[in-house]
Amino acid sequence: MSTVVFQNTGESLPVGKILCLGRNYAAHAAEMAGDIPDSPIVFLKPATAVVHHGDSVILPPISRDVHHEVEMVVVMGRKARHVRIEDAYDFVEGYAVGLDMTLRDVQKEARKKGDPWTVAKGFDTSAPLSPAVPKTDIPNPHALDISLTVNGQLRQSSNTSKMIFTIDYLISYLTGIMTLEPGDLIFTGTPEGVGPVHHGDTLEAELEGVGKLRVGVLSEPLRASA
Ligand code: MG
Repeated sequence: MSTVVFQNTGESLPVGKILCLGRNYAAHAAEMAGDIPDSPIVFLKPATAVVHHGDSVILPPISRDVHHEVEMVVVMGRKARHVRIEDAYDFVEGYAVGLDMTLRDVQKEARKKGDPWTVAKGFDTSAPLSPAVPKTDIPNPHALDISLTVNGQLRQSSNTSKMIFTIDYLISYLTGIMTLEPGDLIFTGTPEGVGPVHHGDTLEAELEGVGKLRVGVLSEPLRASA
């Protein structure tokens, strides 16, 4: 079972749904040649997509263009339905940093055809997740530097103040659609600077106040045919 681990106490929650936001930073919307959305763009990853610090992203053979997207992650702590914006943070347990690994070529094809993004976004190892910190460690979740390096080179660098839809708004919006439960995660969208990863790379994500997440990148080994 996939879990989210709290680094201070060692407690863990089973991961439930993983809700992800598309184009929630204007500079990333621009680099994707997409409009700034009027309402949140939402998709799901399965809990089985989670891997942890020290693990590896496994590049699936159906893609030749796998991208990193560093994102702030909200860990839900209470069952939540129709939550008001002003009450939203009462339902948060903590925060982590994650990677929304994306099969960009598969996603582009899906966008063209109007197909879902499930394959492009939900493959095994597509959701590397750091240990979480409790929300009390983060007085203002919208004032945090967020960054990603590949093999020590800075690729993404921004601040959570630049999110288009804020966390309280997102919780209100999402819980108007579906019930959120303890252990559900919200990947809040990536800033600009997304790009390809390759076999042998080391990715290091960092979110101010939360810490670091390091994962390797490996090609899926060829399987002998039966
Ligand atoms: Mg993303």
